Amino acid sequence: MGEEGVIEKIAGPLVVADKMRGCEMYEVIKVGEEGLMGETIRLDGDFAYIQVYEDTTGLKPGEPVIRTKAPLSVELGPGILKNFYDGVQRPLEDIKHTLEKIKPKAGDYIARGVYVNALDRTKKWNFTPTAEEGKEVVGGDILGEVLETKVIRHKILVPPRARGKILELKGGEFTVDECIARIQTDGEDVELKMMQKWPVRKGRPYKEKLDPEVPLLTGQRINDTFFPIAKGGTGAIPGGFGTGKTVMQHQLARWADAQVIVYIGCGERGNEMTEVLEDFPELVDPYSGEKLMERSTLIANTSNMPVAAREASIYTGITLAEYYRDMGYDVAVQADSTSRWAEALREISGRLEEMPGEEGFPAYLATRLSDFYERAGRVRTLCADSEGRIGSVTVVGAVSPPGGDFSEPVTQNTLRVVGVFWALDSTLADRRHFPAISWLRSYSLYLDNLREWFNKPSSPDFTVQHEEMMALLQKEAELQEIVQLVGADALPPRERGTLEVARMIREDFLQQNAYHAIDSFCSLEKQYLMAKIIRRWYDYASEAIEHGIGLEKLGGMRIKDAIARMKYVRSEEFREKYEEIMRDMKDEFEVIKRKEEGG
Ligand code: ADP
Ligand code: MG
Repeated sequence: MGEEGVIEKIAGPLVVADKMRGCEMYEVIKVGEEGLMGETIRLDGDFAYIQVYEDTTGLKPGEPVIRTKAPLSVELGPGILKNFYDGVQRPLEDIKHTLEKIKPKAGDYIARGVYVNALDRTKKWNFTPTAEEGKEVVGGDILGEVLETKVIRHKILVPPRARGKILELKGGEFTVDECIARIQTDGEDVELKMMQKWPVRKGRPYKEKLDPEVPLLTGQRINDTFFPIAKGGTGAIPGGFGTGKTVMQHQLARWADAQVIVYIGCGERGNEMTEVLEDFPELVDPYSGEKLMERSTLIANTSNMPVAAREASIYTGITLAEYYRDMGYDVAVQADSTSRWAEALREISGRLEEMPGEEGFPAYLATRLSDFYERAGRVRTLCADSEGRIGSVTVVGAVSPPGGDFSEPVTQNTLRVVGVFWALDSTLADRRHFPAISWLRSYSLYLDNLREWFNKPSSPDFTVQHEEMMALLQKEAELQEIVQLVGADALPPRERGTLEVARMIREDFLQQNAYHAIDSFCSLEKQYLMAKIIRRWYDYASEAIEHGIGLEKLGGMRIKDAIARMKYVRSEEFREKYEEIMRDMKDEFEVIKRKEEGG
């Protein structure tokens, strides 16, 4: 038949099969008597090297392998949201149920040879056509829509490579597998369904990539005001154990102004992923009041799942994200942590007996990382209309360098490709300064592109305020070296004033409690006004110091308490608070000045 090979050898997740000439790279293969799912990752003459997505224990040389002649693909259609998948898009719940039926005692998630569809084939969706019969359509055009969850309208699109005249378009209740439209392409009738497939290792096409000139707001002050990420941008959160990577990723999932969330969890330990599986579904969407899962999909890899599935998971995740981008949505992808993904890559590379690069990682680690991050972007989608729809995929990857040492290969190679670097600092985390993002080591390459957006008429000096705060924090770092040597008292009053305002910036602005009902989210207007308040305080204080007023007189000011508490005022009520603080501040400084002049 030429479609069947035979197992030559087995090395953990890697199987080498003979008689495989003609096989394609990244082709899905059914391995062994049980038909375990695998994918070819190297071809060499008659031999194919197959990474297997299931436990290979018990597999023996001589067992057959069967080619499917299809690349590793995902199913795209209604039903992705609210779902939990493994790295190759097998729904975790379905695997569990199927397993319970066939092997009641099988361990969690270890599904051998169990084939479950990513999208439910029995569920009926109410499809509302929006296109018209007789119209010419091309890939990316919208045929109609389905209310996928309480909050997301799922657009049913003409698949990227299809085109033709709509012969028939049906409304009503359909499964993802039923024909909803027929189009005529070169005289041929083609049936379209709500479901389409796409190979995960290939980016979905779009019309053009747009400049990253709109921020993805996160509601986190240090992220938005100091190191903003653009819609369609990429970011990394490197940090040692316990520095707040997962909390930050959850904050992004909850608060980022994206409509769809794809969360890829590669847990370090089994229980960490279990936590995500338990915690994530409990998160409430602050924008709709519904569960966050209503607009999320979660891809989970626990440490007891085969490493190959972990390797595939980021491609599965980004493909799902691209599909929702095609509908015109802003999608945010969180990968936590990409280090676990890189370790899977390293393990498989080792099994392939490839020449190891730095710290055992394969030489292609850098290319794989950039291939992944390059699939982010803000784009004009495919469709007949020349304006098209605009959608975005923003990708943020956590990196967990061993010992928190950023010089290791995964951190370094990630740094080279991402636009934002939110560096977590264990010293800050130890001092309970959260988010523990280092303001001295982090950066955003999007600042120039986003300047115009931030400096809109209602906040013309937004970036100026950021630059001033940043300069003060840098000055603080310099002064701190002197303080270490001679103590703060030896500094001139003006510099002590700088230290004081830097402390305010750190504690009253940068620190933000993810667990506080109000502080968890901070609107951009509130961020702007908070910065303005601190800046005004510094202006008044500097002036007072010029007039010879001692810093100790400024120390006990009532207004400082109000400033310390301002983060706990709701975003919607903040403007009022701002006016009040500005008024009180002016009055209090005037009183101090008058006293000084009088006495
Ligand atoms: P990592 O994923 O880097 O190992 P976590 O995200 O689990 O670390 O964070 C560790 C702990 O740090 C959390 O359990 C929490 O107590 C604290 N923490 C991190 N970020 C914040 C934050 N923004 N607000 C309050 N606490 C935080
Ligand atoms: Mg974590």
